[in-house]
Amino acid sequence: MTAIQWFPGHMTRAKRQIEDKLKLIDIAFELLDARVPLSSRNPMIDEILRGKPRLVLLNKSDLADPKATAEWVSYFADAGIAAVPIDSVTGTGVRSIPERTKEALRDKIEARLRKGMNPRAARALIVGIPNVGKSTLINRLAGKHAAATGDKPGVTKGQQWIRAGADLELLDTPGILWPKFEDPEVGYRLAAIGSINDRILQAEDVAFHALRYLCAAYPDELKARYELDGVPDGGADAEAIVAMMEAIGRKRGCLQSGGGVNLEKASMVVLRDLRGGKLGRISLETPQRQPQL
Ligand code: GDP
Repeated sequence: MTAIQWFPGHMTRAKRQIEDKLKLIDIAFELLDARVPLSSRNPMIDEILRGKPRLVLLNKSDLADPKATAEWVSYFADAGIAAVPIDSVTGTGVRSIPERTKEALRDKIEARLRKGMNPRAARALIVGIPNVGKSTLINRLAGKHAAATGDKPGVTKGQQWIRAGADLELLDTPGILWPKFEDPEVGYRLAAIGSINDRILQAEDVAFHALRYLCAAYPDELKARYELDGVPDGGADAEAIVAMMEAIGRKRGCLQSGGGVNLEKASMVVLRDLRGGKLGRISLETPQRQPQL
């Protein structure tokens, strides 16, 4: 994991860019990957958003385990944060965002009305780590309204707003956050879903960590996909996991000269299957295994 380098300068700049935009918006949409909501979450997000109303969007929920996603929604609700599962590619769940935004801003909207001010569209900023689907969501929300609405008085010059229906406007450039990189397990999970470049972490290490988790959480899916009679249990030692990876490699013809299994190729098979949804809808984290917010 030391191969993932984040320089303090990057963090400071990213944080400042988001902080600059906070005064322009009513609400932040915190975009997380539904398969790894905590690993894809910036640990300093509370500090960065400074009490700004927030809606968590659990993106790529089409690839995630629906049961785990429902548990995550409850987990966030327990912390007083509304979370909405979405699929930004097909648009599932995306249509509910304007309504959920209104709910999250109800107090503010009512206060404006009480003061005799006209209702206006809510202004939002999407924030999230690279590859979580920010651009895809912006395009999906914008739909046929994709044309930017132009500069507004009092808004940073060059800052464009995109209309997303009658009640919502988005800043056109999302806020980019960095993942938690201190914990190697987080890095492996992000790599397993393809959010960290394969050149940075060894495919074998990534697949090993993923397989160990899958043995504990999704043994039937593994057995079915690779026609295995059994899989090691969750607490299995490393050798048992490697032996399973070899068995998978043998079935898939990942051999090297001499007849041994090419573990790197076998690892790539597993990772491709996992990322492509070939093992079914899989989440790599559940709230039970995580500390409280
Ligand atoms: P950004 O770096 O956060 O702007 O991420 P992008 O919008 O570029 O998306 C990264 C990749 O994730 C692209 O290949 C998207 O097609 C894919 N993607 C985004 N949202 C979803 C989703 O909800 N489901 C699935 N399956 N893929 C998605």
